[in-house]
Amino acid sequence: IIRIEAVDKWYGKFQVLTGINLNVAAGERIVVCGPSGSGKSTLIRCINRLEVVQKGRIVVDGIDLTAGGKNVDSVRQEVGMVFQQFNLFPHLTILQNCILAPMRSRGLSQEEAETIAMKYLTRVRIPEQAKKYPSQLSGGQQQRVAIARALCMTPKIMLFDEPTSALDPEMVKEVLDTMIGLADDGMTMLCVTHEMGFARSVADRVIFMADGKIIEQAPPQQFFSNPQNEKTRNFLGQIL
Ligand code: ATP
Ligand code: MG
Repeated sequence: IIRIEAVDKWYGKFQVLTGINLNVAAGERIVVCGPSGSGKSTLIRCINRLEVVQKGRIVVDGIDLTAGGKNVDSVRQEVGMVFQQFNLFPHLTILQNCILAPMRSRGLSQEEAETIAMKYLTRVRIPEQAKKYPSQLSGGQQQRVAIARALCMTPKIMLFDEPTSALDPEMVKEVLDTMIGLADDGMTMLCVTHEMGFARSVADRVIFMADGKIIEQAPPQQFFSNPQNEKTRNFLGQIL
């Protein structure tokens, strides 16, 4: 469902991604890890075209993002994204946050959008918060709203960029549990995270990046028990 071929990307003169090749099948769960500055966020931002690449090809659900043309922005409807900072609109209620994009870009009526929003707010177990504003919720609750909001667009792929790293420790679990639920439902997921417990139990594949390259990838059991590359071993030594 995602095909990345020989992608290079620069920020000005700085090469941030080098020779990235990655195929993701529908329903696959991928965890991306690696040191700060290795290009993890950049890579997943390229998948919903928050960033463009200078070389290589990215095809998402049949849409060639690198071909130009007008339909490339429709990829945002297929790909949901959840950020470290929850990025909710502070002046809108939880429900309003959830119905905005479905009404604007899917053309749903307010009633239809609200029905869908309540379904996903129930799914992340906070339907009772719908009328509140983001500032009235805990960090973990806000992040679950961000996940529900993304799901309201019924995406085929969900991207997560360190969704738990801005949270107090006691709220990490509720967000990870929500993500595990999504994985159990068969969602295609790419998660940048250093939650290695999550990687072990949920990921089909763990990808390690350093210096803008994919250094190593393997199923979690193999990745953690027998990392091949020295950079991977050093990294795991620091975080485990
Ligand atoms: P972290 O773990 O800290 O989030 P990361 O692996 O997600 O790191 P990126 O955010 O992808 O790393 O950044 C990779 C490199 O590109 C870093 O050196 C960063 O300084 C640089 N970079 C990121 N965004 C930009 C930008 N908009 N303009 C210029 N350089 C950038
Ligand atoms: Mg990052």
